[in-house]
Amino acid sequence: ATPFLDIRDLRVDFPTDDGVVHAVNGMDLRLERGDTIGIVGESGSGKTVTSQTLMGLLKGSSARVTGQILFEGTDLVPLTENEMRPYRGRKIGMIFQDPLSAMHPYYTVGTQIAEAYRVHNRVSAKAAKAQAIDMLARVGIPDPVSRYDAHPHEFSGGMRQRAMIAMALICEPELLIADEPTTALDVTVQAQILDLISSLQQETGSAVVYVTHDLGVVAEVCQRVVVMYGGQCVEQAEMEDAFLRTAHPYTKGLLASMPSMADEAGRLTPIPGFPPSLLDLPQGCLFADRCPVAHLVPGNRCRTERPVLHGAGSHRSRCHLSEDLGASESITMEAAR
Ligand code: SF4
Repeated sequence: ATPFLDIRDLRVDFPTDDGVVHAVNGMDLRLERGDTIGIVGESGSGKTVTSQTLMGLLKGSSARVTGQILFEGTDLVPLTENEMRPYRGRKIGMIFQDPLSAMHPYYTVGTQIAEAYRVHNRVSAKAAKAQAIDMLARVGIPDPVSRYDAHPHEFSGGMRQRAMIAMALICEPELLIADEPTTALDVTVQAQILDLISSLQQETGSAVVYVTHDLGVVAEVCQRVVVMYGGQCVEQAEMEDAFLRTAHPYTKGLLASMPSMADEAGRLTPIPGFPPSLLDLPQGCLFADRCPVAHLVPGNRCRTERPVLHGAGSHRSRCHLSEDLGASESITMEAAR
């Protein structure tokens, strides 16, 4: 059967005055209807560029995109801006970190949600308004009839995020991309927003891709995680495998830097060093400069040979040390420190 979403060897380059920025360097990902996955990485890991490419937001820019994004069998990469329009919003919805940047300040929240609906559905303004009010109620906005006429700045941060979710979900997209959907919110509101997305997802059966730097968010809501580093996927795993049978040294580092992993004194273990320059990628493993276990790989291979994604089934890792992933125990947390 045709996979719902199949990303194959996606590469995104941005020509700049200083040279070419290699933002995504061979990303592979498969997703079925109803799946919930998290794409995790630091800033500059390529996670946001991947989601923007998926939405077709780079069309018309100077970005060079190669590879395939097969959505229900249709490759979205070669589509023009016009050809992409029926997909964006209707089939693929997106929630951004900052609702203010996604909403127009001069129009009321309700009008913008109703308009999002009318772009893809031939209905009267009155019917679209009714639909928008219903959606505002579904995302938990109190008194939706009068809030329909409020402007974005009259909403609190949490309520604005709910309104943006309403705008993204009003067309019932089959795929929802949530890019740092809760980063700007306090912890209680964060939990409410994640709950809201999950319950709406169950109602509509859509697939959700969370794009975040926060492994905690992913652990809470996702079945599967894709860890990105230097524009590549370095580990893909079911949630339990990612936490209990972590294969890649970078994922181990991310786990060790999670607040819940702090030691008794509350200290976190950040990953020392910096990500590689995307203008000048090293020849070997992109994590080699920061990797605490590179010395365990014989023959300086980490510096000379770029590892490929190894593994069988759902658990894959891009590291010379985990080439026999699945056949033997993964390297231990201790070894990675
Ligand atoms: Fe570390 Fe080498 Fe594995 Fe890269 S390939 S993560 S440098 S051990």
